Amino acid sequence: MQALRGTKDILPHEIMIWQHIYDTAKEILTLHNYSEIRTPIIENNELFERSIGNYTDIVNKEMYSFRDQNNRYLTLRPEGTASVARAFISNKLYLENKVNKLWYLGPMFRYERPQKGRQRQFHQLGIEYIGCEQPISDVEVIRLAIKILKRLRLTEYILEINSIGNTKERSQYTIKLKDYLNIYKHDLDVDSQNRLDTNPLRILDSKNQKTKEILINAPKLKQFLDKKSIKHFNEVCKHLSYLNIKYTINEQLVRGLDYYNYTAFELKTNEKSNQNTLCGGGRYDQLINQLGGPSTPSVGWAIGVERLLLAVKDQIKLKTIRNIIHILIPGNKIHLKVWDIIKILEEYKINFEVDLSGSNLNKQIKKAYISKAKICLIIGENELKDEYITIKWLETKIQQKIKFHQLRKYFKYIKKEIKT
Ligand code: ATP
Ligand code: MG
Repeated sequence: MQALRGTKDILPHEIMIWQHIYDTAKEILTLHNYSEIRTPIIENNELFERSIGNYTDIVNKEMYSFRDQNNRYLTLRPEGTASVARAFISNKLYLENKVNKLWYLGPMFRYERPQKGRQRQFHQLGIEYIGCEQPISDVEVIRLAIKILKRLRLTEYILEINSIGNTKERSQYTIKLKDYLNIYKHDLDVDSQNRLDTNPLRILDSKNQKTKEILINAPKLKQFLDKKSIKHFNEVCKHLSYLNIKYTINEQLVRGLDYYNYTAFELKTNEKSNQNTLCGGGRYDQLINQLGGPSTPSVGWAIGVERLLLAVKDQIKLKTIRNIIHILIPGNKIHLKVWDIIKILEEYKINFEVDLSGSNLNKQIKKAYISKAKICLIIGENELKDEYITIKWLETKIQQKIKFHQLRKYFKYIKKEIKT
């Protein structure tokens, strides 16, 4: 049996870097007073249709939706923000604090063609700064994304930002964009032709060369922004410059979800590929209200963890935890005494492995060598009879006999030495 196409097992030798990413994010975000939130991976389909938008790629063709035994229409979450917004509303988090700063890391599901950096089950690390309309909060979240990338030793990245205005400005612009693109309708790629009626803004994001050329002379969203939108955007830019965070304004950047307004941004690697976006985010001032909660301006982002891993895995060198001590029980003559030894090792936090293979002493010692253990504790028949343990230091080959009742003292004495 194989794992499903587009899904992956994260194996023991890979898990350390995942834990490292989780720990790094947790440390940085905790310092900035963000709390972790874990929401269910299944939700009512309606949540995503209403938030992400019916004519987006995600809702249109990427969702894993199904009917359960009771004919409820459910969806495996394709992203985190909608679920966090739902949790914020259904748990009335707004009653406790005006501002809620939340983060999450978990699996997301999208039915896409699997390729490098694109899976059907993938993971996102995301943050949401809920309850603040100030442009400085946009900058705080962008800065935090960069901080996390930098701490993970990713230094080559590009920050692209844009202002996509509010709903009114966008709908006025969409009419003009459609008028313009209709003139060239037959020269557009098929995807873009289809989008002309459903989601024309997304055409701006097209990777098709011919479509890109047509777009050069298209009307620009910027021309439709009013004072408030422009002021917000200028403030964001001002703060970024103050922080020496380099950015590029990408007027074509619109993002794939309907709920964004004002600031949209992406962090990319400089690799030339369609999967070079590590982090996408933006402001969503209407979403919570639209889902039935109080009006709550917010901003956030999500980082694709698999893509992040591809970008940083060669830079990060993690110390593997090895079992310093191997407890050898040749021939598998298990004695209750082994529990007393385990308890001492636990107490001193010394990693250990008990060899229950039942093979002979030589084989067990060889195995301990291979796994780079420092010490073998041998509990054989002679040892049991005379109530001692043979301690064999693998590097120096020194062998010692320690009485059972002196073991605790012995480990207390050598604990520092064996941990280095
Ligand atoms: P893309 O342009 O790759 O389709 P997107 O705009 O659909 O990305 P978002 O919804 O903004 O992506 O999700 C944020 C991040 O999650 C992306 O920048 C990417 O790193 C990651 N991501 C999105 N879809 C996938 C996927 N199918 N597999 C792996 N990572 C993904
Ligand atoms: Mg996508």
